[in-house]
Amino acid sequence: MKPKEIIKKARKFADTFRVTNGKKFRLKNFDPADTLGIKSQNKPRAQEALAVGVQAMADFQDKLYAQDKWAVLLIFQAMDAAGKDGVIKHVMSGVNPQGCDVHSFKSPSAEDLDHDYLWRCQKALPNRGHIGIFNRSYYEETLVVRVHPELLARQKLPTELVTKKIWEHRFEDIRNLEQYLSRNGVVVRKFFLHLSKKEQKRRFLERIETPEKNWKFSASDAAEREHWDEYMAAYEDMIRQTATEASPWYVVPADNKWFTRIIVAAAVIETLASLGLEYPEVGPDKLKELAAAKAALLKK
Ligand code: ATP
Ligand code: MG
Repeated sequence: MKPKEIIKKARKFADTFRVTNGKKFRLKNFDPADTLGIKSQNKPRAQEALAVGVQAMADFQDKLYAQDKWAVLLIFQAMDAAGKDGVIKHVMSGVNPQGCDVHSFKSPSAEDLDHDYLWRCQKALPNRGHIGIFNRSYYEETLVVRVHPELLARQKLPTELVTKKIWEHRFEDIRNLEQYLSRNGVVVRKFFLHLSKKEQKRRFLERIETPEKNWKFSASDAAEREHWDEYMAAYEDMIRQTATEASPWYVVPADNKWFTRIIVAAAVIETLASLGLEYPEVGPDKLKELAAAKAALLKK
């Protein structure tokens, strides 16, 4: 496939799941089991397409790195067992590790809690020329912290600042941060891997029943299922409040892993293609330098 065709296809896939205007967003309009009509028998072909996509991504990344102008930040959020780790591993399998950094954000440390909540994420923002991946992010501050108020109580905030408006304020601050980043050449794309409660149950059972997967199972993850509806409400509000033209959310169906990976790859390709990446142009001085170096090399 020619690069132009790959980009066109990627755009077609990714656009369906991209949310740029939060106000119109409703989670119920998105089906976690959607495959855009592709049957699972056609999975091998879909996987071939993914391999082509991964190669295209590697070519773009090479230019991104050489140009040293844009930075790309990919944020992944999801319920447990939605497949964040697998997506990151597969989709980024072709990229040069020198230009790609992955950061996982777990429960905040004592040092983290001694700072504002954006602090630990801001320290991890990607350099120009790099792709940064956040496996969870500051968005947890509007998800797990919203569902479990005791986590907010641990944050040592001055009590007069903890009002009913706290979530509204956090969304505003996050929107402002992302706008600031986009105005500085840091391109932010956010992925919500949208898993159904039923498929999560199936995956948890599989983790319990397969010895090689036992290590992945945590009883506390399963306990979080009791708060499923609260989480879904928090995710919906998060997307409604923070999906913008400059930093959209992709609501990626996550009940079929092969499909999730294709959509994420398509979205990354769509994003990189939109940046007009080219290798830096070589000026007359550099050309002279190259010619002189060649002549010197040939002499010896
Ligand atoms: P994952 O669950 O992402 O696959 P993991 O199982 O290796 O990774 P955990 O030790 O479960 O890692 O850490 C992730 C946990 O940290 C999640 O339950 C998440 O809700 C929690 N977490 C992340 N950010 C925050 C935050 N800002 N405040 C409180 N809890 C957070
Ligand atoms: Mg976990």
